[in-house]
Amino acid sequence: MSFEKLGVFKPLLDAIHDLGYENPTTVQKRVIPLVLQKKDIFASAQTGTGKTAAFALPILQRLRKPVENRGVRAIILSPTRELSIQIHEDIKDLSKYMEIKTTILVGGKDLEKQKRALNNGTEIIIATPGRLFEHIQSGLNLSDVEVFVLDEADRMLDMGFTKDIRKIHPLLPKRHQTLLFSATFSDKVRKLSKLI
Ligand code: AMP
Repeated sequence: MSFEKLGVFKPLLDAIHDLGYENPTTVQKRVIPLVLQKKDIFASAQTGTGKTAAFALPILQRLRKPVENRGVRAIILSPTRELSIQIHEDIKDLSKYMEIKTTILVGGKDLEKQKRALNNGTEIIIATPGRLFEHIQSGLNLSDVEVFVLDEADRMLDMGFTKDIRKIHPLLPKRHQTLLFSATFSDKVRKLSKLI
C-alpha cells in the first residue's frame, strides 16, 4: 500500500518523497483514509509510529482549498512545548509545496509575538491547552475550526489540562471533526472522548 493508493494528493506526495518515506506506517494506513472521509477518530498510537503524519497529511489535504476570509481551520493540541515544536516542524516539512499558514502557541514564549503571528492570519494552530486558552481570552475566534486534534490525550489529562480542554471545546463550531490520539485508554481518556 502506497501513500498514493491511500488518496494522498501530489503536493504532499512530493514532500513525502523529499522526506524519504517509502511506505505508510500501520497507523497511517488506518488513519489517513478515515480522516479524508471526515470521520472522527479515537486511536491508540504511541510516539514513533508515524502518528503525526497520520493526522497531518489528511488535515493538510482537507485544507488544500483556500477559503476566503476564513479564520483558524484546524487546532492541534499537544501536552508539551517540545511535542508542539516537533508537530510544527513536521507540518512545515509536509506542507512545503502548499500555501498554508501555521502558528505555534506554547507557554513560556512571548505572548505578544504570538498575537502578532495570529493577526497575520493562520489556518492551523499547534498549541498547548493553557496557552491556547489565554489567546482565546484575548479574542482568538474558533468559529471557523473544521478539525480538532488532541494528541497524546492521556498525557494532557495527566498534566492537568482537563479544565482547559473542557473550556475550549464548547467554543468550537458544533460540526467539526475530532481526532483523538492516546497511548493508553484510561477512564479519564474515555470520559474525555465522550465529552468531545
Ligand atoms: P511520530 O510517531 O509522528 O513521532 O513519527 C516518528 C518518526 O517517524 C518521525 O521522525 C517521522 O519523520 C518518521 N516517519 C513518519 N512517517 C514515516 C514513514 N511513512 N516512513 C518513514 N518514516 C516515517
